[in-house]
Amino acid sequence: MAKKKLPSVSFVVFGAFLISGCASLNPFIEDLNIISVPQERALSSEMSRSLKTEMKIVGDVTAVNRVNTIGNRLVGALPRKNFDYRFAVVDDPTPNAFTIAGGAIYVHTGLLKMTSDEELAGVLAHEIGHAYERHPTKGITRAYGAKFLETLVLNPNEQNKVKTLALQMVQQSVLNKYTRSDEREADEIAFYLLKRANMPAGGLLSFFQKLQSLQGKQPAFLAFLNTHPPTSERIAHIEELMRSETPSTVLN
Ligand SMILES: [Zn+2]
Repeated sequence: MAKKKLPSVSFVVFGAFLISGCASLNPFIEDLNIISVPQERALSSEMSRSLKTEMKIVGDVTAVNRVNTIGNRLVGALPRKNFDYRFAVVDDPTPNAFTIAGGAIYVHTGLLKMTSDEELAGVLAHEIGHAYERHPTKGITRAYGAKFLETLVLNPNEQNKVKTLALQMVQQSVLNKYTRSDEREADEIAFYLLKRANMPAGGLLSFFQKLQSLQGKQPAFLAFLNTHPPTSERIAHIEELMRSETPSTVLN
């Protein structure tokens, strides 16, 4: 991993740095999280606030209720609740969903349009998986560097910088920079979480199959797929889990 002299660099420069990211790191660095759970909760509130100014949050009762009903049923099946999980709908035709720090999950209207309830449950379970394993703050640690974050989060005088950081992460979709193993883990959690919630895991599979059939036809999908392992690999992984009936090692 390249050495970063982060504390002296301005936030603007971080932007360029983040986009390049770190593609492959050793497992220890990859899994490092300098942000504590209470800090993640505080960051989550800031990010949710920033997000409201950057994106159009939808108030449509039918859409919001649909997401909340399915999402809350899944959250209820988690073995422990490390965060106050919450869901919101964003007015955006791109079929996407994303998670910010601290269990806040957002679903685009474009995704709601193309999914059945079972498929939506699959996507939400995947995003809950990211939140549960704290992939967003692990991603932030990778992107910004542990040293920089340490000085930032431990210093009470740096609260304005935390706000700037929150806004910047929202604007640059830093949180979507997950590693391949994060994605695999989130898929695995999704599979077992659906089971625990007595919901069919087939929705996750059919969502991936839908993505696969649309891949290449709709450019909007490419950005989403590029941040994930290839769909065929994910389909094979889910099919393997369905066949094996191995007890969960991820949701204990
Ligand atoms: Zn993901």
